[in-house]
Amino acid sequence: MESKCPICKKPTTLPYRPFCSKRCADIDLAHWFRGNYRIEGEEAKEDDKENETNQDE
Ligand SMILES: [Zn+2]
Repeated sequence: MESKCPICKKPTTLPYRPFCSKRCADIDLAHWFRGNYRIEGEEAKEDDKENETNQDE
């Protein structure tokens, strides 16, 4: 099974799956915290909005 980094589309590396590097993992994490996480080519599922307290501005 082939998996690619959702950030830059490069092949993933084991230590950072499902990303290719720590940099991309950090980018993805930042997107999560900003609440605008989305994967290209995939419908955004926003039905289950988590109501967490994110006061990390
Ligand atoms: Zn990447």
